[in-house]
Amino acid sequence: MRNLSKSKLIAYRQCPKRLWLEIHHPELRNDSAGTLTSFRIGFSVGDVAQQIYDPEQLGEVIDVQRDGFAAALKRSTELLESDKPIFEAGFSAGGALAFADVMLPIEQDGKRMWHMVEVKSSTQVKAYHRDDAAIQSFIAAKAGVPLISIALAHINNQFVYSGDRDYRGLLKEHDLTGESLAREGEVSEWIEAAHATAGLSDEPDKKTGKHCKTPFECGFLSYCQSQEPQVEYPISWLPGVHSKALKAHAASYSAPDLRDMPNNLLSKLQQRVKAQTLSGEVYFDKTGAVEALEAYSFPAYFLDFETIQFAVPIWKGTRPYRQIPFQFSLHTLDERGKLDSHAFLDLSGDDPSLAFAQSLIAVCGKSGPVFVYNAGFEGARIKELAERFSELALDLLAIKARLVDLHPITKKNYYHPSQRGSWSIKAVLPAVAPDLSYKALTGVKDGGMAMDAYLEAIHGETTPERKVEIEQQLLAYCGLDTYAMVRLWQFLAGRSDLSLEEL
Ligand code: SF4
Repeated sequence: MRNLSKSKLIAYRQCPKRLWLEIHHPELRNDSAGTLTSFRIGFSVGDVAQQIYDPEQLGEVIDVQRDGFAAALKRSTELLESDKPIFEAGFSAGGALAFADVMLPIEQDGKRMWHMVEVKSSTQVKAYHRDDAAIQSFIAAKAGVPLISIALAHINNQFVYSGDRDYRGLLKEHDLTGESLAREGEVSEWIEAAHATAGLSDEPDKKTGKHCKTPFECGFLSYCQSQEPQVEYPISWLPGVHSKALKAHAASYSAPDLRDMPNNLLSKLQQRVKAQTLSGEVYFDKTGAVEALEAYSFPAYFLDFETIQFAVPIWKGTRPYRQIPFQFSLHTLDERGKLDSHAFLDLSGDDPSLAFAQSLIAVCGKSGPVFVYNAGFEGARIKELAERFSELALDLLAIKARLVDLHPITKKNYYHPSQRGSWSIKAVLPAVAPDLSYKALTGVKDGGMAMDAYLEAIHGETTPERKVEIEQQLLAYCGLDTYAMVRLWQFLAGRSDLSLEEL
């Protein structure tokens, strides 16, 4: 019998079919960019955990990738006879295999015991973390490791980095000893059932659903969806919250379609999406859109931010997962249709925040609307900058007070069937300005890619040539986001008379 790793057992807990596919058809897996980013965040938290738990660097790190399973397990067994902290110690027993992030030796009544810690990059304990700790402690205990306690450490989102690689306080521990040990019987059943699933010759039958995204986005989603009956008008296009009654009604269909959803179960907006989708016609309340925008005078500003966040903060004065803006693009439009553009982009790798805030104040003028798309995002970033730099707070908060959100105005007054229930600027733009396209961009085409490009640009091994290439891609991407807003404003405001000339 092969040993199933802890990650395979967690995959089984999410969905038996996922476990089976991971074993029999791993080539069908296609992880999203978000999943890959979360893996990378996990690695950086793991590195810092070693520094926090072993400040004097007395411990040893087991490297299973480098040494292979057999050597890693053998070395772990040897080290468990020592008094050193161990990172990534491996255990194998009862048909399962696990590697513990942190093992700390503790002397009790003359005997060496171990405090086991699982380190997570989230900011709270989640249900699957409890499964994770229960599996880990079960395997370790079965392998004969004397555990005195089991804990889960996650990111403390109140931590403020004081610099000089001082990460004391970054992790918060929760004791899970009692509940982990009490779940021995449950874990034993999971392992048995997971082995039975892994040994099946045919793929288990399982329909896609909510479980495909919780607790992890499953990399087999495209494959599984391709096996299911294709729906012409999926109900996932219905925006907003789906009521309990709607969900119950949809559940009575094997392949629910918008045409089967009665209007009395839909909100006003959902009814509009259904009607326009089925008729193939555009909804546009021109009068409503013009009225929503006519109060705003010139010059008009159009603003967009790109941000980066780190689980382990790298800049002094910042917190874990705080969105730090490193780029903005601004278009200014006067009453004759003349456009002026400004951009800020800092790829130095230093904290961009102060220069970003100063540049923003310098180009935003003193009056006139500042149009954004989803004002909550830009507004929150400006507020955070004001909190960090009190000397700039008045000017920054004055800009925040001028923000005007084009998103709700668009959502209220316009819908094209091609939007498929979304009012993201990328969904709306092809309908209102088909000559503009994110597809025409090279490299960076969305916010996630902008974050990845930023990380690559500030990495020490990135060549100057590549950095220049990334810089151009980021400038083009963010610039398109703001120009798209100008075109959307022009469309909604009914100002096709303006020829929009760049200065
Ligand atoms: S996509 Fe959903 S149904 Fe398919 S394997 Fe993953 S979790 Fe299971």
